[in-house]
Amino acid sequence: MKDDNCIFCKIAAGEIPSKTLYEDEQFRVILDLGPATRGHALILPRNHYGNIYELPEETAGDAMKLAKRMAGLMTDKLHCDGFNILQNNGEIAGQTVFHFHMHLIPRYKDDGQVISGKSGSASSEELEEIKNIIIG
Ligand code: AMP
Ligand code: ZN
Repeated sequence: MKDDNCIFCKIAAGEIPSKTLYEDEQFRVILDLGPATRGHALILPRNHYGNIYELPEETAGDAMKLAKRMAGLMTDKLHCDGFNILQNNGEIAGQTVFHFHMHLIPRYKDDGQVISGKSGSASSEELEEIKNIIIG
């Protein structure tokens, strides 16, 4: 399952060179060309899935297992102080490459990055209403 117009398909297949940290039958892990921090990497499935909605559950599970292993390895080797794992879906959410990928972002004291999931507020009634919309 490849998309001929997709750059991440080509990178994952090795048709376009990348700084590869890891590869197996299902995934390639590469260094991001525009790193948010030192060591910022991306997990790319070799198959083309546009986003989380298209991703099979089993692949999602395997991707998260790989993220866990890479986070451990990268933290050991880079001596980072923390770690963000991010994944964007849709332009409004910051997705710019429409081939599913997970960001592995080592964090360092004073790295100056702001990855915002800043807290807002909601009343108990609003939370109850949202809960009922989602699971009702
Ligand atoms: P997103 O905004 O979640 O779609 O993330 C896309 C990421 O891909 C960004 O962090 C880019 O810096 C990165 N990127 C784009 N093109 C390449 C490329 N050819 N090789 C490596 N990383 C890339
Ligand atoms: Zn693709």
